Amino acid sequence: MTEGPSKSVAEMPRYIRVDARDNVAIVVNQGGLPVGSRFADGLVLVEQVPEAHKVALVDLAEGEAIVRYGVVIGHAKQTIARGSWVHKGLLTPPAAPPLSGCPLSTAVPESLPRLEGYSFEGFRNADGTVGTKNILAISTTVQCVAATVDFAVKRIKREILPRYKNVDDVVAIAHHYGCGVAIDAPGAAVPIRTLRNLSRNPNFGGEIFMVSLGCEKLQPTRMIPVSELNVLEEAPAVSVLQDAEHGFGEMVDSIVSQAEDKLKRLNRRRRVTCPASELVVGVQCGGSDAISGVTANPAVGFATDLFVRAGATVMFSEVTEVRDAAHLITARAATPEVAKAFIREMAWYDDYLEAGGADRQANPTPGNKKGGLANVVEKAMGSVAKAGSTALMGVAGPGERVTQKGLVFAATPASDFICGTLQLAAGMNMHIFTTGRGTPYGLSVVPVVKVASNSSLAGRWHDLIDVDAGRIATADATVEDVGWEIFRLILDVASGSKKTWADHWGLHNEFVLFNPGPVT
Ligand code: CA
Repeated sequence: MTEGPSKSVAEMPRYIRVDARDNVAIVVNQGGLPVGSRFADGLVLVEQVPEAHKVALVDLAEGEAIVRYGVVIGHAKQTIARGSWVHKGLLTPPAAPPLSGCPLSTAVPESLPRLEGYSFEGFRNADGTVGTKNILAISTTVQCVAATVDFAVKRIKREILPRYKNVDDVVAIAHHYGCGVAIDAPGAAVPIRTLRNLSRNPNFGGEIFMVSLGCEKLQPTRMIPVSELNVLEEAPAVSVLQDAEHGFGEMVDSIVSQAEDKLKRLNRRRRVTCPASELVVGVQCGGSDAISGVTANPAVGFATDLFVRAGATVMFSEVTEVRDAAHLITARAATPEVAKAFIREMAWYDDYLEAGGADRQANPTPGNKKGGLANVVEKAMGSVAKAGSTALMGVAGPGERVTQKGLVFAATPASDFICGTLQLAAGMNMHIFTTGRGTPYGLSVVPVVKVASNSSLAGRWHDLIDVDAGRIATADATVEDVGWEIFRLILDVASGSKKTWADHWGLHNEFVLFNPGPVT
């Protein structure tokens, strides 16, 4: 990364250019820069440029490629003078790279040196996974039971949870699925396996407790067939509301009493020292701006490499934000089979979007664009930085459980809550979330470490943001510094010795299933 001149003087006009081939760079001064601003290399702004937006480093002819991250993010719709604001209205986005031409394992990175000696205090499970929290989950087969389970959970938290000091929380896995859906359609496999694998998240200690209505399409044995469970796991406990003969009070009593049996078992769990290799870290971004791709996401990428070097699993996701980098990722796949699995997930999603009359360009939000991101290509190139630099070791479909160590792609939509829910189903026990525009996002099941791309957000939201990666833009820290900070913070939070702001305030977004199948 080369940088606009003048470190440490916050008022000096500064830009960040990521790659030597780039003909645009990002203005990083808080509040942007006015016309006439002069950078130390002599570049003068011919118009004002907002913070995190692009400035032309050279004169660009109509039709000329606009290059950022060393890749073409679009073509100039008109002549653009050096020093101009290169906003989204001036770019025509390029087509997505064809999947048929993606190289298979042609540039597999060498393994990085192993990182030894890092550990955290976690809850070991019988199936070999490790939890970072100790939670009683109450799974539900259908939305019909959600309000009753919510009523019971409030009672459990008030009346009995205080007696079980080693249990952190009681969480109802409520959702909108389970009935009124084409349960045999191919797309139904996704929400069903998501619910199954969600209930097996490592933070639930292998204790599965399901509440069913009775007449719904998604029967408990279909949601979690015993054949799908590990031999070490017990058959799920089930409470069926339509079995109650004496009304609502009996239903709630039954849920509370079965919950107490589970609480007794969970209360025996203790934290033990576990190697960092037991972490399953999900990385995600939401509310990105153009600086996310040069500060927060590369810092997370550096941390990703550290976790991989320590033997852990790191999953990245968000199909529409990696689609434009597909050819770069398939080249990094450890084997041609892994590359083909990645292409399979991209192709499935291309078809899914096409069937809905959309394409990947539907991804960027008004906030992304206001934050300086011209289109999905620019967003994608910044987003994949979270995946670090190591070989891709495995690919999981939406809602599937991840089993490989190293860097893994878990296919999910980019929607924050759907991605988070699917990563929980994949077995995530820690979550890293980067944001530029800002979102108070959090999950009940695993701690969410939020990383801000810019210091103005980190300053304004001092009680929501856990790590300020904006210090990279002001040259007060390097990508490596912030990467190590994230790595160490994750180990502390996973051990329960530090709390994220989202957990401090109890900010927990809902579970949102991905249902590509028809509703009836
Ligand atoms: Ca997202």
